[in-house]
Amino acid sequence: AVEAPDTKNLRVKLVLLGDSGVGKSCIVLRFVRGQFDAASKVTIGASFLSQTVALQDGTTVKFEIWDTAGQERYASLAPLYYRGASAATVVYDITSAESFQKARFWVKELQKHASAGIVIALVGNKSDLEDKREVPFEEAQAFAEQNQMALFIETSAKTADNINELFTNIAKKLPVKPA
Ligand code: GDP
Ligand code: MG
Repeated sequence: AVEAPDTKNLRVKLVLLGDSGVGKSCIVLRFVRGQFDAASKVTIGASFLSQTVALQDGTTVKFEIWDTAGQERYASLAPLYYRGASAATVVYDITSAESFQKARFWVKELQKHASAGIVIALVGNKSDLEDKREVPFEEAQAFAEQNQMALFIETSAKTADNINELFTNIAKKLPVKPA
């Protein structure tokens, strides 16, 4: 007998892109381990961390999260990294206009070269540093809308603000398909 595809338990490769220092590793560690360590210098490298999100409709989404080792410097290697990804988060730091310019570049790059149907989220991290803000919320939101992005959200890995919401919202946007 042909088994029905498992549409209730999804497994999803998610990659993080963005400048060095914007907080990609901290976002992952906050989401997966519930920790923030301002001193830690973690980049996960070749392996990945995973974490499962349970949605209200009973669907579970297991994220296999690929943090980067040097993708920031070697943009030419990025396609190897986002190949096969169903979701991507493009992260900038709200206190760095330069990091937002880089984020715009990554969004265009993904829209041109990543798998069709990839869910791309634009993430403004370090929302706890409001007094140092360089990137207006409205500017990033407008960019996300103009580029038909699935999601725009501001987060703080430090305070945990919107970290679970980020991954839950991505999970809700995924096209349902077999794990
Ligand atoms: P990555 O290079 O993108 O992986 O960035 P990291 O996760 O290594 O973080 C870079 C620096 O930003 C570290 O010193 C973190 O402590 C700090 N950082 C990360 N997220 C936040 C945040 O939400 N708020 C604040 N204030 N600092 C953060
Ligand atoms: Mg890192």
